[in-house]
Amino acid sequence: MIRHKCFCYFVPPQILENLAKHGDPQARSGAVVGLQQSKTKRNRRAAKAVDLQAFAGIATAGEGPRLIYDSQNSWAQRVNLVREEAGPSTGDSAVDKTYKFTGIVRDYMREFMGRNSYDNIGSDLIANVHFGTDYMNAFWDGDEITLGDGDGTIFVSFADSLDVLAHEWAHGITQFTADLDYYSQSGALNEHFSDVFGSVITQYAEGQDADNADWLIGDEIMGPQLYGEALRSMAAPGTAYNHPLIGKDPQPDHMKDYYAGPADNQGVHINSGIPNKAFYLVAMDIGTQKAAGIWYHALQNLWPTADFSDAVAVIVDSARIKVKNGEAPKGSTQTVRSAFKSVGL
Ligand SMILES: [Zn+2]
Repeated sequence: MIRHKCFCYFVPPQILENLAKHGDPQARSGAVVGLQQSKTKRNRRAAKAVDLQAFAGIATAGEGPRLIYDSQNSWAQRVNLVREEAGPSTGDSAVDKTYKFTGIVRDYMREFMGRNSYDNIGSDLIANVHFGTDYMNAFWDGDEITLGDGDGTIFVSFADSLDVLAHEWAHGITQFTADLDYYSQSGALNEHFSDVFGSVITQYAEGQDADNADWLIGDEIMGPQLYGEALRSMAAPGTAYNHPLIGKDPQPDHMKDYYAGPADNQGVHINSGIPNKAFYLVAMDIGTQKAAGIWYHALQNLWPTADFSDAVAVIVDSARIKVKNGEAPKGSTQTVRSAFKSVGL
C-alpha cells in the first residue's frame, strides 16, 4: 500500500487556489507562497531540538513540556526558542496564545483521554509561530505544529484560534492511534477527527456544550475582509463561507453529495463534512463530551485504511462499550447509528 502521511494543512488547497485567482496582488502572492510552501518544506531541522532533561520537574511529572519557537518570519522551524514550560509570558501574542492553547489541549488529553501528549509517551509539544511572511496556513507534519501570521486582511494569525491549534494537535493524536491514511475516505476521517477534537476542546475550554457551541472551525482566523465567515461548519457543512475571494464551502452533509474528484487528496477536507454532521447530531443528543468519549474510543480501534463504513461500525461498537461501562447514556448506540443513517451511512 502507498502511504499518504498526514502533512496536514489547516486551509484546504481549493481556498488558496481561489485566493490566487481572485485576491488582490498581496493576497495572491501570499496564497501562491502558501501553495509553493505546501510542496517543499524548507530547512527542516535547521536548529536542534532542546534537551528534554532541561525541563524535568517543571511540567507535570513525565508530561511533555511546551516549547514555543519563533520562526522570525523565516521559512524554517525551531529557529528561536522563545517560551518554554513554566517560562514567563513574552508579550508576543502569537507566542503566548500558542503556549496557552497548547496547555489547554494537553489538559484535555490528560483529563478526558488519559493521554500523555499526542503520542502518549510524553513527547515535547513543539510549536512554531511567525512562520514565513504573510503565511496563510498552519500545519502538523509528524512531530510539531507550525503557524503562519496570515496577511492581516484575509487571514489573521493562525495562533489566534484554539480550534485551529486543537485541530492540528489532533492530527498528532490520530497519527499515533489509527494513523488514518491521508487520502480519500480514510483521509476525510483523519480530517473529521481533527475537526471533532478542535471543536470539542474549544467547547471544553469555554464551558460550552453542544447546544450553545458555534460548531465553526477557523472562524477566529478570518481577517477584516472575511470577518464573519469560517472554514467549516460541523452543524451545517457547506454553509461556512461563500465569498468572491475564497469561493463557496464545498462540504457535503450527506453521502448523496459525496465528492468523488481528485482535488484535495480526493476530498479529505470536503467529505469530512459527512461524518462531522453525524458527530454534531450525536453531541446534540447525548452531550459533546460523552460523544467525544465514544469517538476517542473508536479512534484507538480504527486502522490506516479504514473507510466511512468501517468507521461507522467501529464508532457504533465504541458506543455500545461505553454504554455497557456506564460512560455513555443508554440509547447512545442507537443515537450513533441513527445519526450516521441520517447522513446516508
Ligand atoms: Zn487538518
